[in-house]
Amino acid sequence: MTRRRCVIAATVCVGAAAFAGLTAQERSAAPADLLKDPIVKAAIDAARTNEAQTIEEQIRFCEVAAPSFKESARAEALRGAFQQLGLRNVRVDKAGNVLGDRPGAATQPHLVVAAHLDTVFSGDTDVRVKRDGAILRGPGIGDNCRGLAVLVAVVRALRQAAVQTPGSITFVATVGEEGLGDLRGVKQLFTETLVGEIDRFVAIDGTGLGVANVGVGSRRYRVSFKGPGGHSFAAFGLANPIDALGRAIAKVAEFQVPHQPKTTFNVGRVGGGTSVNSIPSEAWMEVDMRSSDPASLAALDARFQKAIDAAVSEENERWRTPRMITAVKERVGDRPPGSTPADSSIVRTAQAVHRALNLPFSLSESSTDSNIPMSLHIPAITIGAGGDGADAHAPTESFNTTDASIGTQRAVLLTIALAQK
Ligand SMILES: [Zn+2]
Repeated sequence: MTRRRCVIAATVCVGAAAFAGLTAQERSAAPADLLKDPIVKAAIDAARTNEAQTIEEQIRFCEVAAPSFKESARAEALRGAFQQLGLRNVRVDKAGNVLGDRPGAATQPHLVVAAHLDTVFSGDTDVRVKRDGAILRGPGIGDNCRGLAVLVAVVRALRQAAVQTPGSITFVATVGEEGLGDLRGVKQLFTETLVGEIDRFVAIDGTGLGVANVGVGSRRYRVSFKGPGGHSFAAFGLANPIDALGRAIAKVAEFQVPHQPKTTFNVGRVGGGTSVNSIPSEAWMEVDMRSSDPASLAALDARFQKAIDAAVSEENERWRTPRMITAVKERVGDRPPGSTPADSSIVRTAQAVHRALNLPFSLSESSTDSNIPMSLHIPAITIGAGGDGADAHAPTESFNTTDASIGTQRAVLLTIALAQK
C-alpha cells in the first residue's frame, strides 16, 4: 500500500511493510486472491446490484422504533430477515440479541458479525424516514439502521453467490449498545450465549469506511449524598449534602489526566435540595470517565472514589457531625476499554481488503460492541457501513446514499476473508 492511499484520520496508519509481513496462511487467503474467485466476485457484484434493496431495508428497519431496552419490535424484523435468507438456528437469546448461523466447512474459525439494534431516541420519537434525492433523514438512519441493513445485505450476497467458507459465521443483531444499554447485548454474547466460541468479531456500526481497532472505555456513576435535613435557620449546624456535593465537584474539577492515551472526566448532571429555606436531605450527581487505556481508567476511578469519600468527611468535620452525611456511589455504566493490535491478523486482513478494493485505509478509536471482545483479548474491529452520515444521535440525523454500496461490498469481502482458516 502506498503512502498516498493511506489516509491518516486518527491514531495509526499501517503501511506496506505490515502487509508484507503476512504469514503464508494469511497470504493464501489474501483478499486480492479471493477476489479472483468467481464465486467471491459474484458475491461482491450482488452487494452492488442489491444496493437499492439494502437502502429500502435500512428505511424499513429504521421506521420501527428501538430505544435501548425496547428493541424487541425491531429485533423481530431482523429475525424475519435472517430466517428468510436461510440462516440456520435463528434465535433470540436471553438479552434479546437475534442470532443466525451460516455454517462453514468447519466450526472454526468462528466469525461473528454484529450490528446493534438500539437507538438513543425515546419511544415517542417520530421515526418516519424522509427521502430527499440521495439523502435519507430520520433518527438512527445511519447509527445504526445502516449497519443493520448492511448486516442483512452481507447474508443475502453470500447466499446469492452460494459462497462456501472454511470457517463458520454467526450474524447477530445486538441489543443495548447505546448509553445506559451499557453493551448489555454483547456482554451477554461473550459471557453466556456464545461464551468461549468466538474467534473473531466485527461490529458494523454507523457510516463511512472507517476501521476502529481501539475501544474507548467508560465508567459512569450516580452519586447520592444524604443527610438528615432540616430548617435552614432553626436547624443550622447540620452537615449539608449539597455542600458535600460541591466539595466533591471541586475535587473532580482539579483532576489531572493524561493526554495520551486520552483520558477524560465530566460531571454531567446534578440535582437535589428541598427549598431555599431547608437544609437539604439529598443531593446527587452523574459522572462520566473515559479512556482507551484500562490502567488510566482504573486510576481515574480510584481517585474519584477517594474524592467522594474525602468530600463527605470534610463536610462532616466542618460541622463536627460525624457520619451525618453519607454518599452512595452507584455504577451506572461500565464499558471496558480495550484494543486490537494494529499488526494483528484481523487488522491486516481489513487492510488487505481495502487494498484489494482500492480504498484508503486508516485506523481509529470508537466505543462500540467491540469493546467487550477487545477487553477479553479476542480479535475485534468495528467498521462503518458505508455512505456518509451526519448528526448521529440527534433527531436531525441524515444519511447520504451516494456510493454507499462500496461499504456493503467491503463488508462482504471482509466477512469472507475473515471466515478463512
Ligand atoms: Zn452505533
